[in-house]
Amino acid sequence: MDLLLKKSTGLRSKVIKMDKFDISSFTDILADKAGKIIPEIFKGVQKARRDYKNEIKILPDEIKYASAELWEEIIGKAISLGIDLIGFAPIDENLIFENDYVGGIEMLYENGIVLGMEMNYDAINTAPKPPAGLESLRIYAELGNATNKLVDFIRSKGYKAIACHPLGGPILYPAMAVKAKLGKIGKQGLLITKKYGPRQRLSIIAINATPLPENQCEDFEISEFCERCRRCIHFCPVNAIFEDPLVKKNGTITRIDSNKCFEYFYETTGCSVCIETCPFHKIGSEVLYYRQL
Ligand code: SF4
Ligand code: SF4
Repeated sequence: MDLLLKKSTGLRSKVIKMDKFDISSFTDILADKAGKIIPEIFKGVQKARRDYKNEIKILPDEIKYASAELWEEIIGKAISLGIDLIGFAPIDENLIFENDYVGGIEMLYENGIVLGMEMNYDAINTAPKPPAGLESLRIYAELGNATNKLVDFIRSKGYKAIACHPLGGPILYPAMAVKAKLGKIGKQGLLITKKYGPRQRLSIIAINATPLPENQCEDFEISEFCERCRRCIHFCPVNAIFEDPLVKKNGTITRIDSNKCFEYFYETTGCSVCIETCPFHKIGSEVLYYRQL
């Protein structure tokens, strides 16, 4: 049973509080849109919580075989739901948080499907102004709903699955995305992908199925570029990004002072300055060409 269910080994997380998002600077249309999107986010989180509680009433005693055809169906369904990135990796217990304050999830299945959804380029370019904040809210709602629907689909195929909502979540998404070969971690701690740079949000589905399919994303390396660039460190409005990451004894890497970041993040409903300033967002992975110059 231990092999099938993954639990935290003690990784700490910071509490995300939806009621702290400040949309008072949103006017007219933006305020109307935010007024519709925020309840959608809550609905998505509540559905994921409810489903999780039902899911763990009967735990599996073996991991179920999944054929290549099943994975193709899952990938096809994910694309039809608007998912832009999909990768696969075993769930790493060391990346599970001690407490999932938002979703209430305490255990996950053996394997993970990592999902990503692109954020709108033009909206992110307005960061930290309200259109970028609204885009953060929109993507939480849309990716949350798509994740829940994909879990429903997987269950309809007779497999057990747990939806981890993009807001909060029980596991460190960017690190899991690296394991799923979707990209690399930038100086600001965000996943940088070849397709969208840091301009995506992530969620995960834990699934009781094996073997996982091969990951299709093309690998690329950004660490040298980041060392030269450091734009996100320079432009962070509250100096929350460390020049050099803190590496703890257990190997955990902290790239951001979350106290400083969260305050501004709430104030601006998602900030996004460290997405907007990143050349992998502005130009795309072609920036690696300039590394040669
Ligand atoms: S989200 Fe904003 S405040 Fe937080 S690290 Fe990025 S730029 Fe800084
Ligand atoms: S802004 Fe520069 S240093 Fe920061 S993540 Fe992007 S490429 Fe790396």
